[in-house]
Amino acid sequence: MKKEFAVIGLGRFGGSIVRELIELDADVMAIDISSERVDEYAHIATQAVAADTTDESVLRSIGIRNFEHVVVAIGENIQASILTTLMLKEIGVKKITVKAQNDSHEKVLRKIGADQVVHPERDMGIRIANNMVSNNILDYLELSDEYSIAEIKANDKLVGSTLIDLDIRAKYGVNIVAIKRGKHILVSPQAIEKIRLEDILIVIGSDEEIHKFEKKALH
Ligand code: ATP
Repeated sequence: MKKEFAVIGLGRFGGSIVRELIELDADVMAIDISSERVDEYAHIATQAVAADTTDESVLRSIGIRNFEHVVVAIGENIQASILTTLMLKEIGVKKITVKAQNDSHEKVLRKIGADQVVHPERDMGIRIANNMVSNNILDYLELSDEYSIAEIKANDKLVGSTLIDLDIRAKYGVNIVAIKRGKHILVSPQAIEKIRLEDILIVIGSDEEIHKFEKKALH
């Protein structure tokens, strides 16, 4: 059985979620209040529907309850985003992901029970800034205000050493949860694993610890 998703709001963010889900072989209902936007997705999504999702009866009539995960990607109209999320909760949709415009919007969304709140522009800004500050940090994903996961390129200082030799957890407080080696990923690498050139370390820790590790261990 294919997974079934619905995406509400077909701006750049919602639209790219629709395209990628289809690419990943899921069934997607694409929904927008604008019929022009809906027409754009008629041949891309499994179904494309024009609807005002702030109206509970409209949401019920399109069978929104049957979707296991619904994304609310309404951007500028914060009121419509909040009302839509509220209606989805009322109807009993199991999982709701919502795009937030700012911190106050996020607070309200969390209060009314959104399962996941994302800030694509802010998060991408953080990732790019981290990569600009250090060429070794290839990617950076915030888990909370304090903790993150980073992809860090191993350099000559680390190559040839085992994880025991480096003693990274004791020295820097970060954990290496996986090593990307070409197309392979070693999950929970063993302590005797030797780091090779071109390895990418996937580390988890507080922002402070990750930056300390990056500065001290790699320079
Ligand atoms: P992006 O940056 O991803 O392009 P955005 O933040 O600019 O997005 P908007 O264009 O403001 O997003 O909104 C996304 C879509 O949400 C629009 O196509 C808009 O028509 C749709 N939308 C707004 N209100 C509603 C509503 N009540 N019901 C359904 N769709 C809506």
